[in-house]
Amino acid sequence: MTEEQQQIRDLAREFAEGELKPHAEEWDREAHFPREVVQKLGELGFLGMLLPEQYEGLGMDTATYLIALEEIARGDASVAVAMSVHNSLPTQMILAHGTDAQKERWLMPMARGEWLGAFSLSEPDAGSDAARMAAQARRVDGGWVLNGAKAWVTNGGFGDVVVAMARTDTPDDRRGAKGIGAFIIPTGAEGYIVGKKEDKMGQRASETVGIAFRDLFVADDQVLGDPSLGFIYALQGLDGGRMGIAAVATGIAQAALEHAVRYADERKQFGTPIRAFQGMQFKLANMAMRVEAARSLVMRAAAAKDAGKPEARLSSMAKLFASEAAMYVTTEAVQVFGGYGYVKEYPVERLFRDAKVTEIYEGTSEIQRTVIARELYR
Ligand SMILES: Cc1cc2nc3c(=O)[nH]c(=O)nc-3n(C[C@H](O)[C@H](O)[C@H](O)COP(=O)(O)OP(=O)(O)OC[C@H]3O[C@@H](n4cnc5c(N)ncnc54)[C@H](O)[C@@H]3O)c2cc1C
Repeated sequence: MTEEQQQIRDLAREFAEGELKPHAEEWDREAHFPREVVQKLGELGFLGMLLPEQYEGLGMDTATYLIALEEIARGDASVAVAMSVHNSLPTQMILAHGTDAQKERWLMPMARGEWLGAFSLSEPDAGSDAARMAAQARRVDGGWVLNGAKAWVTNGGFGDVVVAMARTDTPDDRRGAKGIGAFIIPTGAEGYIVGKKEDKMGQRASETVGIAFRDLFVADDQVLGDPSLGFIYALQGLDGGRMGIAAVATGIAQAALEHAVRYADERKQFGTPIRAFQGMQFKLANMAMRVEAARSLVMRAAAAKDAGKPEARLSSMAKLFASEAAMYVTTEAVQVFGGYGYVKEYPVERLFRDAKVTEIYEGTSEIQRTVIARELYR
């Protein structure tokens, strides 16, 4: 790590230890997202880490951003996923494909953390196969009118700006993945309807909602780039997004490892700390190795992105490996805690639940394997 990266890591760690970790259990129990934390993240610059200084961002590289994100996830995975979605998807899509005017209008308040961003690709009947989405945009004078239902939108209710994908082709001329646009929509717009908030297994504090568009008018200056290429832009965004989820998974795994190491030292059975047993030592060693390997792969993917090299393969590998490592490490952490790992009194139970969704969102593990295999033949 460079000196600057160490400083950022320490800042994120201090914030996570002081402002997130002490409340994580309560936020999980209440399924409550601490909106005020977003403001604090913004003040620290953590919501504009990848945006150029010109748009009031910190202009940092991907590696530094992911180092900070892992630390935030170590404190609270729900806050980390909100930060990951905001930094990796809507802001990056606007930066990559927006006009100068769009960047000025949307990115500056997003970099300051005044507006929290969301990304809406999935629909109730179109998840892994998102190109089969049904939400429809109809061309009208000066813009588009959107109708349809979207699903699983992280930050979609209390967030401020969502980059949403909807069909721009017509029912009698379907163009598949090349008939979809990306639209910048303020969540306060008329016709933006927030539906059911999901009652989740883990990352319960993170807000996941269904949304509907009902005759929602989107002006031309809120369309990103070419209105037929929104799906391609979304997939490009997901290459970066998956690195973010990989960092979140690594943070969850790191937290579980630390709890397990401490507990194995404190807990005595047969007259000795349980860490004296080889059965426990092997577990802890396997856990520690997977955390390090996950982190290394995250940094490897970040290095490729920062060097401007193709990133899809490494990004999918990092997401796949880190999410499976998080599942492995949190499962073993519960085992190290024995019966105490199975109750809510100790944090490993929550970490175990928080880990699972990292294998699902931004592309399931099966889809990551499909991407990696496809890239092998490119
Ligand atoms: C908490 C949470 C937050 C989310 N946040 C967002 C968000 O902010 N924005 C957004 O757009 N979406 C979001 N999602 C949606 C998420 O990306 C989808 O759930 C995910 O892509 C899977 O889609 P699905 O749930 O429809 O499952 P399906 O696609 O129906 O998959 C079901 C099963 O079939 C498998 N499968 C499907 N296709 C294949 C294949 N070709 N080969 C092998 N196996 C396959 C899958 O891997 C899975 O095991 C979120 C989801 C959750 C749970």
